[in-house]
Amino acid sequence: MKKDVKDYIRTIVDFPHEGILFRDVTTLFADPRGFRMAIDQMLHPYAGERIDKVVGLEARGFILGGAIAHQLSVGFVPIRKKGKLPGTTISEEYTLEYGEAIVEIHDDALQPGEKVLIVDDLLATGGTAEAGIKLVERLGAEIVGCAFIIDLPDLGGRKRLEAMGMDVFALCEFE
Ligand code: 5GP
Repeated sequence: MKKDVKDYIRTIVDFPHEGILFRDVTTLFADPRGFRMAIDQMLHPYAGERIDKVVGLEARGFILGGAIAHQLSVGFVPIRKKGKLPGTTISEEYTLEYGEAIVEIHDDALQPGEKVLIVDDLLATGGTAEAGIKLVERLGAEIVGCAFIIDLPDLGGRKRLEAMGMDVFALCEFE
């Protein structure tokens, strides 16, 4: 019997390349009990807080962010990889393990002073989340918190985001 969110996460060895243990949340998303548990628990720390928009990071952050926004009856805003959003965007470049990536947000997606919850499935080095935070802050919105299913503490993402003044919440950790 699966008891907590971590029990629903599958580990794939050597994906996307040798030596990587990929934490696969599709098995969590596919299970009705697991998925609801994850959404409910991600919302728990923000009970009673004002949240105007949920911002999700491509791509698994869209699945979580859509469900969380629906639960809160607020809007959802995507942060996407370069070239995917049709309107006028602002962008941030960040460093990946190999090379660079660029993420974008529509420049009219958030209003100054709006309270935002940022969500993604997994926090590793924090590079992706940091780029997302910068985009949200450049639009003048205020970040209430950054919520993840998984934190990989050895990769330092939590410390990196906390050093930016962020409130970081994750449902579980993997070594
Ligand atoms: P970071 O930028 O913090 O180093 O990496 C986090 C990003 O990479 C997230 O958007 C996350 O979806 C993805 N990611 C990296 N490793 C994994 C993994 O093992 N499992 C999953 N589900 N996503 C990962």
